Amino acid sequence: MTVTWEELGWERLAAGVGRCRLPVWDCTAGLVVGAGAALVIDAGPSLAEGSRVRARAQEIAGHRVTHLALTHPHFDHVFGAAAFAGAEVFGAVGVETVLAARHGRADLRADAVGNGLDARLADEAVDALTVPHHHVSGEWTLDLGGGRQVLLANVGPAHTAHDLAVLVPGSPEVVFCGDLVEESGEPQAGPDAVPSHWPAALDRLLELGGEDALYVPGHGAVVDAAFVRRQRDALAGRFGVS
Ligand SMILES: [Zn+2]
Repeated sequence: MTVTWEELGWERLAAGVGRCRLPVWDCTAGLVVGAGAALVIDAGPSLAEGSRVRARAQEIAGHRVTHLALTHPHFDHVFGAAAFAGAEVFGAVGVETVLAARHGRADLRADAVGNGLDARLADEAVDALTVPHHHVSGEWTLDLGGGRQVLLANVGPAHTAHDLAVLVPGSPEVVFCGDLVEESGEPQAGPDAVPSHWPAALDRLLELGGEDALYVPGHGAVVDAAFVRRQRDALAGRFGVS
């Protein structure tokens, strides 16, 4: 590796695994480095931010980003995706319909502008929006070479109808949770959330990662299994499900 994670303002979580917290909305972008391959998890809230994530990921990896996984179809996670031209793009099955549909794009744009993204940048991102061409139902093992395999798991619906988590085996194991888990604020349940299934999705995350994994929220600091379990119970109480 040519530079360290820390030199670029990224957080190293395990060998070849880390993430950064992007400005303004504190959205996580993750990176898993393989042999000649690299997976980025979530693309940031604009084309410019996506380009920065890609450039820094490639500096850390020492080679190009070959794969991109989108955890769910919200603007702060997908608007930078077009900066990953040439990468294999993954999402939970059905996400491609949301991102390709005129009304889905209009909703994304409205949400972005409502949350303070410049309207011009929102238009630019919507016009260029990348739709995942690999649609994950159940689980999908991705081989990044050099013995590095990651598991993409469709654990929703919960935060949205199309929630994808990424499990990276190792020591420690790392679970990229998307917005199924939030640390810097209450989990956001918008009109596209499926609250009745959310606690079950967190049960599935805990099953995948186990007690010793690092859980990386979509927003906020890295947490442990106990935090995820508490958030699961709080959501179950908030939404009146067991
Ligand atoms: Zn979200």
